[in-house]
Amino acid sequence: MDRIGFDIDGVIYPWHEAVLEKAKREGLVEVSATVGDLFGYPEEVGLLFHWSKFTRDKYVSDVETYMHPLPRVSKDVLSVLSDNFELFYVTARSGELEYPTFRWAEENNLPQRENLIVSNGPKARYIVENDIDVFVEDRPKYVEELAEHTAMILLTQPWNANYNVDNHVRIDLLEELIPMLVGEEND
Ligand SMILES: [Mg+2]
Repeated sequence: MDRIGFDIDGVIYPWHEAVLEKAKREGLVEVSATVGDLFGYPEEVGLLFHWSKFTRDKYVSDVETYMHPLPRVSKDVLSVLSDNFELFYVTARSGELEYPTFRWAEENNLPQRENLIVSNGPKARYIVENDIDVFVEDRPKYVEELAEHTAMILLTQPWNANYNVDNHVRIDLLEELIPMLVGEEND
């Protein structure tokens, strides 16, 4: 059975929106700011890139207290795919977020969450070790790194809309994975 890998933040979980919401709540950005303003491609065009390391770390790491539920659409897509594939999740989150991430996976009934990998190291190692056939990612930097090791699917987000290197398949909605991957399997 084929193995599909998922990035979490920006793919199945709206982490970027959560960071934006927190930044708005605390007055760090204008209320009219969008995720596209905060995270850009290249990353230097986004507001977040220009925050101090202290501020960035505080916002980037501090997801524990405001972790949202797994969105319905992610739940539905993962549930369908889990009948046909082995699912893996590889997220680049720092050590202190390991426990909150596992707890969140448990609370949200993430399908096949025994294959959840939380690591701040390079993702490539886990892709190779687990023989992942296809990986779904939102961040151009990781698409570039991982395309050498597996087939990449890029989920369109405001921060990658301009990325046009020819090393991936692009989808605009997570739901597109079902006809794309399950359809292929049944051929
Ligand atoms: Mg991501």
